[in-house]
Amino acid sequence: TQPEYKVTDPATGEVSETFPFATDAEVEAATSGAAAAFADWGARPVEERAAIARRVGELFTERADDLAAIATKEMGKSHGQAKGEAEFCTDIFGYYADNGPELIATKPVPGYENAHVEYRPVGTIVGVMPWNYPYYQVARFAAPNLIVGNTMILKHAENCPKAALAIADIMRDAGVPDGVYTNVFATFEQVAGMIADPRIHGVSLTGSERAGAAVAAEAGKHLKKVVLELGGSDPYIILDSDDVDAAAETAWETRMENVGQACNSNKRMIVMDDIYDDFVAGLTRRAAELTPRSADADGYAPMVSRKAAEGLLAQVQDAVEKGATLHTGGTLADGPGAFFAPTVLTGVTPEMRAYKEELFGPVAVVYKVSSDDEAVELANVVDYGLGGAVFSTDEERAVRAASRLDVGMANVNTPAGEGADLPFGGTKRSGFGRELGPLGIEEFVNKRLFYVQ
Ligand code: NDP
Repeated sequence: TQPEYKVTDPATGEVSETFPFATDAEVEAATSGAAAAFADWGARPVEERAAIARRVGELFTERADDLAAIATKEMGKSHGQAKGEAEFCTDIFGYYADNGPELIATKPVPGYENAHVEYRPVGTIVGVMPWNYPYYQVARFAAPNLIVGNTMILKHAENCPKAALAIADIMRDAGVPDGVYTNVFATFEQVAGMIADPRIHGVSLTGSERAGAAVAAEAGKHLKKVVLELGGSDPYIILDSDDVDAAAETAWETRMENVGQACNSNKRMIVMDDIYDDFVAGLTRRAAELTPRSADADGYAPMVSRKAAEGLLAQVQDAVEKGATLHTGGTLADGPGAFFAPTVLTGVTPEMRAYKEELFGPVAVVYKVSSDDEAVELANVVDYGLGGAVFSTDEERAVRAASRLDVGMANVNTPAGEGADLPFGGTKRSGFGRELGPLGIEEFVNKRLFYVQ
């Protein structure tokens, strides 16, 4: 059975608030409201929609402290990281407010004086969003759709109802008209029902493969467009380095972002044999000196839930039982909190779950390789293809390796290029479609050919 929407503090396991599932009448009201709002919203001048989207973005920064407090309480991340996330939403709405009108302006068709392509809104889109970046994930979906003129119904994760409500408040307070953005605490059946409804024109999901497959199956049955941002097990290749300790520092900081619960985190570090020992030592030292956050001390955040931490523990234990080496960590503190000790694991081989599965938490897996070819082959061995990074003092060498990665985002000499203006998305089981940047506004539009004889 689907858990109800509730606030559970991952640091203490304490449930402070619960929210009932939407009634079917509420889902019907959301759907009919979104359909009714579309006629006006989609027909307004794009500049008007852009001005409202900009105000939405500004409110994310004005309210960043309150939004951060909500996220810390609901999913555990530190106040600083949560505040940074809320402020990044301002960039996303601002980017689309600035650039959206031009991006969706009518385009000529080369070779024709009497034909052009118009970017038309398509209607109402359902968003299904996860808890790991409860604001950013929604902003990636909502900002371009506001500009395009679509209306939205948002089903957020069961464990961040207050973040979901805070976003809906921001929309209303910024002047987004009734029905253009509606939050619903929907059941999975209600989500499926909305997807089947002829008044709904597409669905965008960020989350697990399981959720993505379930939602995409419904969408396929009813011929609705889908965008999926699913998991990843991104390779992070270090071919050579003139400062191995600094390389370990960057890799470790990147891996620990959001306590390792990011889809495009450097989950598999693939390191050339001559620097491998020093690199592993650098990671291990950093991991071992971290302590859990408590009421009177800063430290690493809890994972999202005890259940998620137990799942990660099972993956690590499976590897260790089959012969992997645990350099540090690999333990879950006694409950009820979800504090998972930062972990460094090596010697992972194909029969272990950790080889191909995503490790969604603070675990760094490091592999030793002896050639660029071996590094690339190992990088591409997983079924995911979200991002990947290659580092070398020889940029051309790194570019050669990075160009062979089967991923949606290839980075050279940086963990990841990140910005509201850079497209984000994957290949293989990491999903399809793109968010952010110029490509992110192209997903839910009717590129209507207009031909005048
Ligand atoms: P889920 O994929 O279950 O949750 C993401 C969203 O999908 C939530 O809103 C969830 O609702 C919803 N959902 C799940 N199943 C369905 C369904 N059948 N129909 C409609 N909506 C559905 O993520 P989990 O929290 O379970 O995380 C598990 C794994 O997912 C992680 O270990 C990680 O691998 C991956 N993940 C990837 C993310 C990314 O950024 N790409 C983000 C989060 C997770 P509800 O909360 O009510 O279950």
